[in-house]
Amino acid sequence: MWRATVLTIFPEMFPGPLGVSLAGKALAERIWSCEARDIRDSATDKHRSVDDTPAGGGPGMVMRADVLARAIDAVKNGKRPRILLSARGKPLTQARVRELAAGEGVVLVCGRFEGVDERIIEARKLEEISVGDYVLSGGEVAAFALLDACVRLLPGVMGKEASGAEESYESGLLEYPQYTKPQDFEGKPIPEVLLSGNHAKIAAWRREKAEEITKVRRPDLWDRQKGQKY
Ligand code: SAH
Repeated sequence: MWRATVLTIFPEMFPGPLGVSLAGKALAERIWSCEARDIRDSATDKHRSVDDTPAGGGPGMVMRADVLARAIDAVKNGKRPRILLSARGKPLTQARVRELAAGEGVVLVCGRFEGVDERIIEARKLEEISVGDYVLSGGEVAAFALLDACVRLLPGVMGKEASGAEESYESGLLEYPQYTKPQDFEGKPIPEVLLSGNHAKIAAWRREKAEEITKVRRPDLWDRQKGQKY
C-alpha cells in the first residue's frame, strides 16, 4: 500500500476531493492510504499555538520549527521522502510524480500563514515542492494536487485504456486535441483523418498537432524536448 501522511492544521480537509472518483475508489480498495495529522497536537501551550510573529518584523505569522519538528518526528517515514509544499519549491513535474508514485509513499508538510521557520527545512531535510508559480493560502490544496497526480499512476488505479503514456508531459509534448461524438457539434465536424481508420495517418496527425500546440503554448517545453525521442 502506498502511504500518504499529511501534516496540517486542517486535518478535516483530508481526504476531501481525493475521497471520490478514481482516488476515492483506490483509497477504499486500500491501494493507498491517507492519514492526516493535526500539527496542533504537537503544540505545548494551552492555546495549541503552532505559529508566532516573524523575527525581524513584517506581516503575518510563521510556523514554529519546534512544533513542526515534533509533528514530523512523530511520523515513521521509513523510506518515504518528507516534502514541504512551498511556493519557493522546485516546480512539480510528471517525472518527479512518477518517482514518488513508484516509491512507498510521501510525508507531506502543509505550510500556512507566511510559511515555516527556515530551520525546520534544513534540520529535517524537507524537499520543497511547488505546484505552480502562484501563492496559495496553504499547502493543503497543493497536497491534493501532488497526491492526485501520484495516486492515478499507482498500479490498478487507472483502467488499461488510460495508461497515461500518451498524455501531456509524458512525451515532453502537450497532448493532441481529443474529439468524441457527436460528429457535428454546432457546425464543427470531427477532423476527417480521425474517422479514416488509418492508424498510421492518425498517429502522424496527432504527433503534428501535439508539436504545434507545444510550440505555441509552451516554447520552454518545446526547446527542452527537441532532439529527444518521442
Ligand atoms: N510567504 C510565502 C507564501 C506562504 S503561503 C511566500 O511568499 O513564498 C502559505 C503556505 O501555502 C506555504 O507555506 C506553502 O505550504 C503553501 N503554498 C503556497 N503556494 C504554494 C505553491 N505554489 N505550491 C505549493 N505550496 C504552496
